[in-house]
Amino acid sequence: MRVYNFSAGPSMLPIEVLEEAQKEFLDFAGTGMSVTEISHRDKAFAPIVEEAEALLRELMNIPENYCVLFVQGGASQQFAAIPLNLMKSGKADYIVTGNFAKKAWQEGKIYGDARCVASSEDKTYTYIPDVDKIAFSDDADYVHITSNNTIFGTRYAKFPETKAPLVCDMSSEILSREIDVNKFGVIYAGAQKNLAPAGVTIVIARKDLIENPLPICPTMLKWKTQADNGSLYNTPPCFAIYMANLVLRHLKKLGGVKEINKVNEYKAGLLYDFIDNSSFYTNSVVKEYRSIMNVPFVTPSKELDEKFVKEAKANGLVTLKGHRLVGGMRASIYNAMPVDGVKKLVEFMKKFEQENA
Ligand SMILES: *Cc1c(COP(=O)(O)O)cnc(C)c1O
Repeated sequence: MRVYNFSAGPSMLPIEVLEEAQKEFLDFAGTGMSVTEISHRDKAFAPIVEEAEALLRELMNIPENYCVLFVQGGASQQFAAIPLNLMKSGKADYIVTGNFAKKAWQEGKIYGDARCVASSEDKTYTYIPDVDKIAFSDDADYVHITSNNTIFGTRYAKFPETKAPLVCDMSSEILSREIDVNKFGVIYAGAQKNLAPAGVTIVIARKDLIENPLPICPTMLKWKTQADNGSLYNTPPCFAIYMANLVLRHLKKLGGVKEINKVNEYKAGLLYDFIDNSSFYTNSVVKEYRSIMNVPFVTPSKELDEKFVKEAKANGLVTLKGHRLVGGMRASIYNAMPVDGVKKLVEFMKKFEQENA
């Protein structure tokens, strides 16, 4: 029996995609081999990378002057790749809005003067600093932000206007809402939340920004290496890219980002409305910054939180335990979470409240 999996990542994939992968798992495109067995140099594989790139460009409306790369090492590897590719004058600004944002900043400090220009750590990351009031440095090589904060359940309602290129970690919200790529210098995202199984990371970088990596930048971390080789410099995560391609096809069939965003807003609305109308459950994020992907909430006590997670699991609603930094519960409701899953969760929450309030 399939359960509703509220994991923050790796997370659910659309059932149609899993079935498609299953159908062609033993014989991919008439090769008589599984896609996990064919060479990345095989002529059956090249079209997968090409199609995935083309679909991502179409769905996100990525302009021609940006390259699209499929790399490994997760978003965390990019925390280092960003300064190594961009920190020419040794300075960068970071907005610290959560655990991953902080990690990115700390990694930046290894390579130069990475400054935290705004942080929401004072209130345990329950809001996003007002981007219009931030004093950015005049001489920064880039400004780094995390658009959706997976652990704390916040997202930027509005992106900062910066002189330096804006570099954005979109791991937990890529393809969930429409964004204007032109506003960013670099967008990157580990795929295991909204796009594919773990193993592939997307980098979308303005072409003029990838030309002068620092001399110490390892070959594999140079975006230019990947760009010059169509993401096939070395063996790529073939299966993850193949799955990403199936997910992108599926998303296109659903009507693209605009349509999935409507569904995402609806799903998040169901959950937040219920929480806000209940005196039993609490979400402590400032409303205008609430994420539509990750929804943390608590009951009145730690004991009830534990009981909630256990009983929810017995009801087919799994991985609802919150991150250890926040406690309580967290429902991650990415693109692939069906509306029905959120409805089932709300029904369960209602019942649990009645039995335990
Ligand atoms: C999950 C996540 C990461 C870490 O991704 P890895 O691929 O595990 O390195 C980084 N940033 C954000 C916003 C995330 O949600």
